[in-house]
Amino acid sequence: MINALKDLIQKNSGSISIAQFMQFALYDYQYGYYMHKSPIGNNGDFITAPEISQLFTETIAVWVILEWEKLGKPKKFTLVELGPGNGTLISDIIRITKKYFSCDICLFEISPILRTLQQDKLKKSNSNVRWYRNINELPSQPTIFIANEFFDALPIQQYVYTEQWNERKIIISNNHQLNFILKPSDNFSYSDNNSTQGSIIEVNNMAHNIYYELKAHIKHNGGNALIIDYGYINKPYISTLQAVKEHKYHNVLSNIGEIDITSHVDFSMFTDCTISTQRAFLHSYGIKERSAQLLKKSTYKEADNIMLSLHRLTSPCLMGDLFKTAILQ
Ligand code: SAH
Repeated sequence: MINALKDLIQKNSGSISIAQFMQFALYDYQYGYYMHKSPIGNNGDFITAPEISQLFTETIAVWVILEWEKLGKPKKFTLVELGPGNGTLISDIIRITKKYFSCDICLFEISPILRTLQQDKLKKSNSNVRWYRNINELPSQPTIFIANEFFDALPIQQYVYTEQWNERKIIISNNHQLNFILKPSDNFSYSDNNSTQGSIIEVNNMAHNIYYELKAHIKHNGGNALIIDYGYINKPYISTLQAVKEHKYHNVLSNIGEIDITSHVDFSMFTDCTISTQRAFLHSYGIKERSAQLLKKSTYKEADNIMLSLHRLTSPCLMGDLFKTAILQ
């Protein structure tokens, strides 16, 4: 086991929260997953919608153009992407929207490797691109936010109901392995009629804070936001913590720093948003019509690809229903 993680657990009287664990496993300067891995793509650990097909990025670009029109076509405004990954979505949006407007591009990225990738990809775009760490440092002007598979990466805490609420924490067991444990939690309370023995509630404080800041920024400056992620509208009362490595599910507590750890996003936190499924969202912004256009001028092989991508992005048994969208206007 990594000594720095052992030290962290020992310093915290023998147990750490899942959020502390994720913070270490994902963001630790030396060992954190996002600090030294290039996670996205066939050679990485997982694939995201912008990497599957331009059908996705083009449909998001349509949404951006329509929202910009709704804002009164401002001459000066900011387009923000939270967690831009390989930079595919933002560079496609810049390319597609160029004939409508130019704007300030602000990117939130914690990974130095992905930031370099984004810099390379956006070099040719001739856009005014800057990288930020805080929403309250953004320029005071209308702002359109986009976040695809960003909120799932943020650290969560889990609480489990037995006769009382307990926090699910992480310890080092006698055989020197990491293990989950329940510790009574006096300061957590959650009441609804659905919690039964073993019910799990997940709390994502970082996501709440970021969403709160984003909403405040839009309230003061005008703008809107589109959040897309795998998640739920009604609480599932089970653990959604998961890890992947090389496109396969992996044990959350082993190979720390080499695996991507995430959880399903609780869409009920996005107050005042219109919540929908990725399937409904992509259909209402014209993904089917766009694929029909592309099919007309494609080879058999390209046509196969278009149909497969459309199916993967919108089918209820694949990404279509698992992924939700939240729009704040
Ligand atoms: N949106 C991209 C990438 C999704 S992966 C896509 O759809 O392909 C998650 C992204 O969020 C990565 O770019 C990751 O480095 C970034 N990220 C994760 N946690 C972050 C944090 N706390 N602050 C800023 N960026 C973060």
